[in-house]
Amino acid sequence: MNNIAPKLTPEEYEKNFAEIHPPFSKNSAMVEANRCLYCYDSPCMKACPTHIDISTFIKKIATGNVKGSAKTILESNWIALTCAKACPVAVLCEGACVYNERDEKPIEIGRLQRYAIDWYFGNGMPPLFSPAPPTGKSIGIIGGGPAGLSCAAELCLLGHTVTVYDAKEIPGGLDTWGIAPYKTTQADSIKEVKLVQSLGATIMTKTMVGSDITIDELLKTHNAIFIGVGLNHPSRLNIEGEDLPGVHDALAFIARVTTRKWPSVNVGKRVAVIGAGNTAIDAVTESKRLGAEQVMLIYRRSQNEMPAYEFEYELAKSDGVEFHFLTSPLRIIGNGKVEAIECTRMSLGKPDAEGRRAPIPVPGSEFRIPVDMVIKSVGQNIEESFFSKIPNLKIENGQVVVHPESFQTSNPKFFAGGDCINGGKEVVNAAADGKRAAYGIDQWLRRPANG
Ligand SMILES: Cc1cc2nc3c(=O)[nH]c(=O)nc-3n(C[C@H](O)[C@H](O)[C@H](O)COP(=O)(O)OP(=O)(O)OC[C@H]3O[C@@H](n4cnc5c(N)ncnc54)[C@H](O)[C@@H]3O)c2cc1C
Repeated sequence: MNNIAPKLTPEEYEKNFAEIHPPFSKNSAMVEANRCLYCYDSPCMKACPTHIDISTFIKKIATGNVKGSAKTILESNWIALTCAKACPVAVLCEGACVYNERDEKPIEIGRLQRYAIDWYFGNGMPPLFSPAPPTGKSIGIIGGGPAGLSCAAELCLLGHTVTVYDAKEIPGGLDTWGIAPYKTTQADSIKEVKLVQSLGATIMTKTMVGSDITIDELLKTHNAIFIGVGLNHPSRLNIEGEDLPGVHDALAFIARVTTRKWPSVNVGKRVAVIGAGNTAIDAVTESKRLGAEQVMLIYRRSQNEMPAYEFEYELAKSDGVEFHFLTSPLRIIGNGKVEAIECTRMSLGKPDAEGRRAPIPVPGSEFRIPVDMVIKSVGQNIEESFFSKIPNLKIENGQVVVHPESFQTSNPKFFAGGDCINGGKEVVNAAADGKRAAYGIDQWLRRPANG
């Protein structure tokens, strides 16, 4: 990269990556918990994909029973700390809070959940659950992200022997390697990994299934297999200059930021991020907070079609990120390194089958933006080379097809959940899938003909 942004002081990095939702004190948690109306129909609970009994856990905080509150939360969601800190609560539980109807501030459910779960980890994870007697069945879990960990925890409680195989040196999936440091930390994700281990799961790190260990070997060892490998194949732009030094994939860049070794992450003075999903927003915000002087998000449609959440967009705007809507990159220009990006203006045509208006280039509108770094964030796909090794596995529209209740795939020994079945949603969806798949696996293994 020709123009690296100057490094910040340690204090500046800490300030820039400080938590955007700091923890509640005991007093503020009590005050907030006592605001909860304990609604008879709990719209918040319905809005949560893991259906945590939110009113009950809040009531327990209000009565000083924080351990009981943690138990209520963990009964529904094993990834409760990351969810408390990183869930898009405004569109889930807090968005459903009845206070919104009165134009009053909704209950801060995420921060209250964090209060209870912080207590649980801060008090050495007191035992809250007793596993069922051993079933003698063994399940292999491919991928130690939230889907795999949640499935592992639940299977352990059901009395099964569980081994999780994860390609990385630290498991946790994108909770460890993806979520922005001003929301949560690797250390918090590792606490959740330890919780799953404490329930009896074995976790094999640096073990890439498909190369370090084969699918056939797993089938010989385990009675059933859960696939929670996420989406780890970045989409390409397929434009000239894409492989120039200074062009990065968003996930690789973001993974370096999650390590909190910020001075070691070089960022350009002028950065262009291509894409407009939540990952693109994280990339622009993190670039700015690492010290980049000018950060631009380039998106071929308008703000109305932008997939990123409104509150993420607002965060990036408040950081001073520039948004170039109706702009599409044509090529990346540079002599041995990135120097500029050539773009064209776009207009929007008729809506397609999904109702999204197609972007159309405006002839003669080409222009150049000088940049030192380009970050590509135009989506993630499943790793086809991995899935092709599993016989008779049905994949449609880039997603593994599963039964909606059991999460069983077209190959009966394999179950799946998380991003690889939903195309990339949230941590809470992966946590919900993993838990429900555990029940699907358990039911299937209990049939005499199986396992
Ligand atoms: C940059 C970014 C930021 C995000 N921020 C948020 C947020 O703030 N809030 C939110 O709720 N959601 C967020 N998400 C979405 C959320 O992280 C995902 O929906 C969730 O992590 C999906 O969980 P998963 O278990 O399906 O997959 P992953 O978390 O991707 O985990 C998959 C695991 O499988 C392992 N693996 C893959 N292939 C193999 C193999 N062949 N053998 C062994 N192991 C393998 C990987 O090492 C990884 O640990 C974000 C996503 C991204 C990309």
